[in-house]
Amino acid sequence: MHDNQLTLDQIKPLADGRVGLAVLGFPINHSLSPHLHNAALAQLAFHDEKFKNWKYGKVELAASDLGKALPKLWDCGYKGLNLTIPHKVEVLPLLSSIDPAAEIMGAVNTLVWKEDGWHGCNTDGYGLEAGLRESLSVELENAQVLILGAGGAARAAAAQCLKSRCKKIWLANRSIGRLTEVVHVLSKTFGSKRIQSFALDSLPNEVGNIKGLVIINATSLGLKREDLCPIELDGFDPSCKIYDMIYNPAVTKLLEQAKYGKMSHANGLSMLVHQAARALELWTQESVSVSAMYSGVRA
Ligand code: NAP
Repeated sequence: MHDNQLTLDQIKPLADGRVGLAVLGFPINHSLSPHLHNAALAQLAFHDEKFKNWKYGKVELAASDLGKALPKLWDCGYKGLNLTIPHKVEVLPLLSSIDPAAEIMGAVNTLVWKEDGWHGCNTDGYGLEAGLRESLSVELENAQVLILGAGGAARAAAAQCLKSRCKKIWLANRSIGRLTEVVHVLSKTFGSKRIQSFALDSLPNEVGNIKGLVIINATSLGLKREDLCPIELDGFDPSCKIYDMIYNPAVTKLLEQAKYGKMSHANGLSMLVHQAARALELWTQESVSVSAMYSGVRA
Protein backbone atom coordinates (compact mmCIF):
# COMPACT_ATOMS: atom_id res chain seq x y z
CA MET A 1 0.00 0.00 0.00
CA HIS A 2 1.33 3.40 -0.87
CA ASP A 3 2.44 6.15 1.39
CA ASN A 4 3.49 8.12 -1.63
CA GLN A 5 1.95 10.55 -3.98
CA LEU A 6 0.16 9.01 -6.98
CA THR A 7 -0.95 10.27 -10.35
CA LEU A 8 -4.11 9.10 -12.14
CA ASP A 9 -2.21 6.40 -14.06
CA GLN A 10 -0.57 5.07 -10.91
CA ILE A 11 -3.87 4.34 -9.12
CA LYS A 12 -4.16 0.52 -8.99
CA PRO A 13 -6.69 -1.91 -7.44
CA LEU A 14 -5.96 -2.41 -3.73
CA ALA A 15 -5.03 -5.86 -2.42
CA ASP A 16 -7.79 -7.84 -0.69
CA GLY A 17 -8.74 -6.44 2.69
CA ARG A 18 -6.96 -3.13 2.10
CA VAL A 19 -8.93 0.09 2.39
CA GLY A 20 -7.70 3.21 0.63
CA LEU A 21 -8.34 6.84 1.54
CA ALA A 22 -6.77 9.78 -0.28
CA VAL A 23 -6.73 13.51 -0.81
CA LEU A 24 -7.04 14.78 -4.40
CA GLY A 25 -5.71 18.16 -5.43
CA PHE A 26 -3.46 20.15 -7.71
CA PRO A 27 -0.80 20.77 -6.57
CA ILE A 28 -0.85 18.24 -3.71
CA ASN A 29 2.77 18.03 -2.61
CA HIS A 30 2.22 20.48 0.28
CA SER A 31 -0.71 18.54 1.79
CA LEU A 32 -0.35 17.49 5.44
CA SER A 33 -3.50 15.34 5.33
CA PRO A 34 -1.70 11.94 5.09
CA HIS A 35 0.25 12.74 8.29
CA LEU A 36 -2.96 13.57 10.18
CA HIS A 37 -5.02 10.65 8.96
CA ASN A 38 -2.36 7.95 9.16
CA ALA A 39 -1.55 8.98 12.76
CA ALA A 40 -5.23 8.74 13.72
CA LEU A 41 -5.60 5.42 11.84
CA ALA A 42 -2.63 4.02 13.78
CA GLN A 43 -4.41 5.00 16.99
CA LEU A 44 -7.64 3.34 15.79
CA ALA A 45 -5.68 0.20 14.83
CA PHE A 46 -4.42 -0.01 18.42
CA HIS A 47 -8.01 -0.78 19.49
CA ASP A 48 -9.28 -2.53 16.37
CA GLU A 49 -6.95 -4.55 14.11
CA LYS A 50 -9.01 -3.97 10.98
CA PHE A 51 -7.71 -0.41 10.78
CA LYS A 52 -4.17 -1.74 10.21
CA ASN A 53 -5.28 -2.23 6.61
CA TRP A 54 -6.44 1.35 6.17
CA LYS A 55 -4.02 3.83 4.63
CA TYR A 56 -4.37 7.42 3.47
CA GLY A 57 -2.39 8.76 0.50
CA LYS A 58 -2.44 11.65 -1.93
CA VAL A 59 -3.22 11.91 -5.63
CA GLU A 60 -2.15 14.81 -7.81
CA LEU A 61 -4.86 15.44 -10.32
CA ALA A 62 -5.82 18.20 -12.74
CA ALA A 63 -9.47 19.28 -12.56
CA SER A 64 -10.01 17.90 -16.08
CA ASP A 65 -9.11 14.39 -14.79
CA LEU A 66 -11.61 14.30 -11.91
CA GLY A 67 -14.25 12.66 -14.11
CA LYS A 68 -11.88 9.73 -14.84
CA ALA A 69 -10.36 9.52 -11.36
CA LEU A 70 -13.54 9.22 -9.28
CA PRO A 71 -14.91 6.03 -10.92
CA LYS A 72 -11.39 4.58 -11.04
CA LEU A 73 -10.82 5.15 -7.32
CA TRP A 74 -14.25 3.68 -6.56
CA ASP A 75 -13.47 0.55 -8.68
CA CYS A 76 -10.01 0.20 -7.09
CA GLY A 77 -11.38 -0.06 -3.55
CA TYR A 78 -11.01 3.47 -2.15
CA LYS A 79 -13.66 4.19 0.50
CA GLY A 80 -13.07 7.83 1.28
CA LEU A 81 -11.63 10.89 -0.44
CA ASN A 82 -10.81 14.46 0.48
CA LEU A 83 -10.75 17.26 -2.06
CA THR A 84 -8.61 20.33 -1.90
CA ILE A 85 -7.82 23.24 -4.25
CA PRO A 86 -9.11 23.36 -7.02
CA HIS A 87 -11.62 20.47 -6.85
CA LYS A 88 -14.15 21.38 -4.14
CA VAL A 89 -16.69 23.00 -6.45
CA GLU A 90 -15.82 21.34 -9.79
CA VAL A 91 -16.55 17.89 -8.34
CA LEU A 92 -20.24 18.59 -7.61
CA PRO A 93 -21.72 17.40 -10.95
CA LEU A 94 -19.76 14.11 -10.69
CA LEU A 95 -21.35 12.95 -7.42
CA SER A 96 -24.25 10.54 -6.97
CA SER A 97 -25.56 12.49 -3.96
CA ILE A 98 -24.70 15.55 -1.87
CA ASP A 99 -25.34 16.20 1.81
CA PRO A 100 -27.92 19.04 2.13
CA ALA A 101 -25.56 21.14 4.29
CA ALA A 102 -22.81 20.82 1.69
CA GLU A 103 -25.28 21.76 -1.03
CA ILE A 104 -25.90 25.09 0.75
CA MET A 105 -22.14 25.63 0.96
CA GLY A 106 -21.87 24.85 -2.77
CA ALA A 107 -18.62 22.96 -2.14
CA VAL A 108 -17.57 19.56 -0.79
CA ASN A 109 -14.28 18.49 0.79
CA THR A 110 -15.13 14.89 1.72
CA LEU A 111 -16.47 12.01 -0.38
CA VAL A 112 -17.87 8.88 1.20
CA TRP A 113 -18.12 5.60 -0.75
CA LYS A 114 -21.71 4.40 -1.17
CA GLU A 115 -23.14 1.46 -3.16
CA ASP A 116 -24.33 3.80 -5.92
CA GLY A 117 -21.27 6.06 -6.12
CA TRP A 118 -19.60 8.93 -4.26
CA HIS A 119 -21.57 10.93 -1.69
CA GLY A 120 -20.31 14.50 -1.08
CA CYS A 121 -20.08 16.16 2.36
CA ASN A 122 -18.39 19.24 3.74
CA THR A 123 -16.49 19.13 7.02
CA ASP A 124 -14.72 22.50 6.55
CA GLY A 125 -17.47 24.48 8.31
CA TYR A 126 -17.44 22.10 11.27
CA GLY A 127 -13.62 22.24 11.33
CA LEU A 128 -13.61 26.03 11.27
CA GLU A 129 -16.09 26.35 14.15
CA ALA A 130 -14.15 23.82 16.25
CA GLY A 131 -10.85 25.50 15.32
CA LEU A 132 -12.10 28.99 16.25
CA ARG A 133 -13.30 27.68 19.59
CA GLU A 134 -10.06 25.83 20.32
CA SER A 135 -7.57 28.44 19.09
CA LEU A 136 -9.31 31.74 19.87
CA SER A 137 -12.12 30.84 22.33
CA VAL A 138 -14.61 32.18 19.77
CA GLU A 139 -18.25 31.08 19.88
CA LEU A 140 -20.07 31.80 16.63
CA GLU A 141 -23.44 32.40 18.27
CA ASN A 142 -23.99 36.21 18.31
CA ALA A 143 -20.52 36.83 16.84
CA GLN A 144 -19.89 39.43 14.12
CA VAL A 145 -17.65 37.92 11.48
CA LEU A 146 -15.74 39.39 8.54
CA ILE A 147 -14.96 36.69 5.98
CA LEU A 148 -12.37 37.45 3.30
CA GLY A 149 -12.93 35.42 0.12
CA ALA A 150 -15.81 33.85 -1.79
CA GLY A 151 -14.33 30.51 -2.85
CA GLY A 152 -15.15 27.06 -1.47
CA ALA A 153 -13.63 27.69 1.97
CA ALA A 154 -15.33 31.09 2.37
CA ARG A 155 -18.70 29.62 1.42
CA ALA A 156 -18.30 26.88 4.02
CA ALA A 157 -17.27 29.47 6.62
CA ALA A 158 -20.20 31.78 5.85
CA ALA A 159 -22.79 28.99 5.90
CA GLN A 160 -21.40 27.67 9.21
CA CYS A 161 -21.50 31.14 10.81
CA LEU A 162 -25.11 31.67 9.72
CA LYS A 163 -26.15 28.16 10.76
CA SER A 164 -24.55 28.67 14.17
CA ARG A 165 -26.59 31.88 14.66
CA CYS A 166 -23.91 34.53 14.32
CA LYS A 167 -25.24 38.10 14.59
CA LYS A 168 -23.90 39.26 11.22
CA ILE A 169 -21.42 38.32 8.51
CA TRP A 170 -19.52 40.75 6.32
CA LEU A 171 -18.29 39.08 3.14
CA ALA A 172 -15.49 40.68 1.13
CA ASN A 173 -14.01 39.41 -2.12
CA ARG A 174 -11.86 40.60 -5.02
CA SER A 175 -14.19 39.49 -7.81
CA ILE A 176 -17.68 40.88 -7.41
CA GLY A 177 -19.37 38.28 -9.65
CA ARG A 178 -18.35 35.45 -7.34
CA LEU A 179 -19.28 37.46 -4.25
CA THR A 180 -22.76 38.22 -5.59
CA GLU A 181 -23.35 34.57 -6.38
CA VAL A 182 -22.36 33.48 -2.86
CA VAL A 183 -24.59 36.12 -1.24
CA HIS A 184 -27.48 35.02 -3.47
CA VAL A 185 -27.09 31.33 -2.50
CA LEU A 186 -26.72 32.07 1.23
CA SER A 187 -29.68 34.48 1.25
CA LYS A 188 -31.97 31.80 -0.20
CA THR A 189 -31.35 29.59 2.86
CA PHE A 190 -30.66 32.07 5.67
CA GLY A 191 -32.38 35.28 4.50
CA SER A 192 -30.44 38.45 3.68
CA LYS A 193 -30.73 40.40 6.98
CA ARG A 194 -27.50 39.12 8.52
CA ILE A 195 -25.37 39.27 5.34
CA GLN A 196 -23.46 42.28 3.98
CA SER A 197 -20.93 42.22 1.17
CA PHE A 198 -18.15 44.46 -0.18
CA ALA A 199 -15.30 44.53 -2.61
CA LEU A 200 -12.13 43.52 -0.80
CA ASP A 201 -10.53 46.91 -1.47
CA SER A 202 -13.48 48.99 -0.19
CA LEU A 203 -14.35 47.80 3.30
CA PRO A 204 -16.50 50.41 5.09
CA ASN A 205 -14.91 52.11 8.13
CA GLU A 206 -17.73 50.98 10.43
CA VAL A 207 -16.49 47.38 10.17
CA GLY A 208 -13.18 48.38 11.70
CA ASN A 209 -14.96 49.82 14.77
CA ILE A 210 -16.78 46.62 15.71
CA LYS A 211 -15.58 45.35 19.08
CA GLY A 212 -14.67 41.65 19.14
CA LEU A 213 -15.06 41.29 15.36
CA VAL A 214 -13.84 37.88 14.16
CA ILE A 215 -11.84 38.22 10.92
CA ILE A 216 -11.34 35.05 8.88
CA ASN A 217 -9.00 34.93 5.90
CA ALA A 218 -10.48 32.43 3.45
CA THR A 219 -8.60 33.75 0.43
CA SER A 220 -5.51 31.98 -0.83
CA LEU A 221 -3.52 35.21 -0.34
CA GLY A 222 -0.69 34.30 2.00
CA LEU A 223 0.03 30.82 0.65
CA LYS A 224 3.05 32.22 -1.18
CA ARG A 225 5.61 34.18 0.84
CA GLU A 226 5.55 37.03 -1.69
CA ASP A 227 1.72 37.44 -1.45
CA LEU A 228 0.33 40.75 -0.25
CA CYS A 229 -1.92 40.94 2.79
CA PRO A 230 -5.67 40.61 1.92
CA ILE A 231 -6.50 43.60 4.20
CA GLU A 232 -4.67 46.11 6.39
CA LEU A 233 -5.49 45.71 10.08
CA ASP A 234 -4.36 49.13 11.29
CA GLY A 235 -7.91 50.58 11.16
CA PHE A 236 -9.40 47.72 13.18
CA ASP A 237 -10.20 47.68 16.89
CA PRO A 238 -7.54 45.79 18.92
CA SER A 239 -10.27 43.51 20.31
CA CYS A 240 -10.59 41.85 16.86
CA LYS A 241 -9.70 38.18 16.62
CA ILE A 242 -7.91 37.06 13.48
CA TYR A 243 -8.08 33.54 12.07
CA ASP A 244 -6.10 32.77 8.92
CA MET A 245 -7.22 29.50 7.30
CA ILE A 246 -3.72 29.19 5.85
CA TYR A 247 -1.45 27.01 8.01
CA ASN A 248 1.58 26.74 5.72
CA PRO A 249 3.34 29.15 6.08
CA ALA A 250 2.43 29.12 9.78
CA VAL A 251 2.72 32.93 10.01
CA THR A 252 1.27 34.91 7.12
CA LYS A 253 1.59 38.67 6.66
CA LEU A 254 -1.95 39.00 8.03
CA LEU A 255 -0.94 37.18 11.23
CA GLU A 256 2.23 39.30 11.48
CA GLN A 257 0.01 42.39 11.39
CA ALA A 258 -2.31 40.90 14.02
CA LYS A 259 0.66 40.21 16.28
CA TYR A 260 1.94 43.74 15.76
CA GLY A 261 -1.53 45.13 16.65
CA LYS A 262 -1.67 42.87 19.76
CA MET A 263 -4.79 41.14 18.42
CA SER A 264 -5.60 37.51 19.25
CA HIS A 265 -4.72 35.42 16.22
CA ALA A 266 -4.29 31.85 14.98
CA ASN A 267 -3.48 30.02 11.79
CA GLY A 268 -5.64 27.34 10.14
CA LEU A 269 -3.99 24.27 11.64
CA SER A 270 -6.81 23.70 14.13
CA MET A 271 -9.38 23.88 11.32
CA LEU A 272 -7.33 21.41 9.28
CA VAL A 273 -7.21 18.95 12.17
CA HIS A 274 -10.89 19.22 13.10
CA GLN A 275 -12.19 18.95 9.52
CA ALA A 276 -9.95 15.91 9.05
CA ALA A 277 -11.17 14.27 12.27
CA ARG A 278 -14.78 14.70 11.20
CA ALA A 279 -14.04 13.24 7.73
CA LEU A 280 -12.32 10.20 9.25
CA GLU A 281 -15.31 9.72 11.55
CA LEU A 282 -17.60 9.69 8.52
CA TRP A 283 -15.47 6.98 6.85
CA THR A 284 -14.76 4.78 9.88
CA GLN A 285 -17.90 5.45 11.96
CA GLU A 286 -15.52 5.60 14.96
CA SER A 287 -14.64 8.55 17.15
CA VAL A 288 -11.25 9.89 16.14
CA SER A 289 -8.41 11.19 18.31
CA VAL A 290 -7.71 14.86 17.55
CA SER A 291 -4.55 14.70 19.67
CA ALA A 292 -3.20 11.80 17.54
CA MET A 293 -3.74 14.01 14.50
CA TYR A 294 -1.87 16.92 16.10
CA SER A 295 1.01 14.58 16.99
CA GLY A 296 1.05 13.23 13.41
CA VAL A 297 1.22 16.65 11.83
CA ARG A 298 3.84 17.96 14.28
CA ALA A 299 6.03 14.88 13.75
P1 NAP B 1 -10.66 28.96 -3.90
O1 NAP B 1 -12.02 28.36 -4.04
O2 NAP B 1 -9.68 28.84 -5.01
O3 NAP B 1 -10.87 30.53 -3.51
C1 NAP B 1 -9.77 31.38 -3.45
C2 NAP B 1 -10.19 32.74 -2.89
O4 NAP B 1 -9.02 33.54 -2.78
C3 NAP B 1 -11.18 33.51 -3.76
O5 NAP B 1 -12.05 34.27 -2.96
C4 NAP B 1 -10.24 34.43 -4.56
O6 NAP B 1 -10.86 35.63 -4.99
C5 NAP B 1 -9.22 34.77 -3.50
N1 NAP B 1 -7.96 35.21 -4.10
C6 NAP B 1 -7.07 34.45 -4.76
N2 NAP B 1 -6.02 35.22 -5.19
C7 NAP B 1 -6.29 36.49 -4.78
C8 NAP B 1 -5.61 37.73 -4.92
N3 NAP B 1 -4.44 37.81 -5.57
N4 NAP B 1 -6.16 38.83 -4.37
C9 NAP B 1 -7.35 38.75 -3.70
N5 NAP B 1 -8.05 37.59 -3.54
C10 NAP B 1 -7.53 36.49 -4.08
O7 NAP B 1 -9.90 28.34 -2.62
P2 NAP B 1 -10.55 27.74 -1.29
O8 NAP B 1 -10.72 26.27 -1.40
O9 NAP B 1 -11.74 28.57 -0.94
O10 NAP B 1 -9.35 27.99 -0.23
C11 NAP B 1 -9.03 29.30 0.20
C12 NAP B 1 -7.93 29.26 1.25
O11 NAP B 1 -8.36 28.56 2.42
C13 NAP B 1 -6.67 28.53 0.77
O12 NAP B 1 -5.56 29.23 1.23
C14 NAP B 1 -6.77 27.17 1.46
O13 NAP B 1 -5.49 26.62 1.68
C15 NAP B 1 -7.43 27.55 2.77
N6 NAP B 1 -8.17 26.44 3.38
C16 NAP B 1 -7.74 25.99 4.60
C17 NAP B 1 -8.42 24.96 5.21
C18 NAP B 1 -7.97 24.47 6.55
O14 NAP B 1 -8.38 23.36 6.95
N7 NAP B 1 -7.18 25.23 7.29
C19 NAP B 1 -9.54 24.38 4.60
C20 NAP B 1 -9.96 24.88 3.37
C21 NAP B 1 -9.24 25.91 2.76
P3 NAP B 1 -11.56 35.73 -6.46
O15 NAP B 1 -12.92 35.16 -6.31
O16 NAP B 1 -11.54 37.18 -6.74
O17 NAP B 1 -10.68 34.93 -7.40
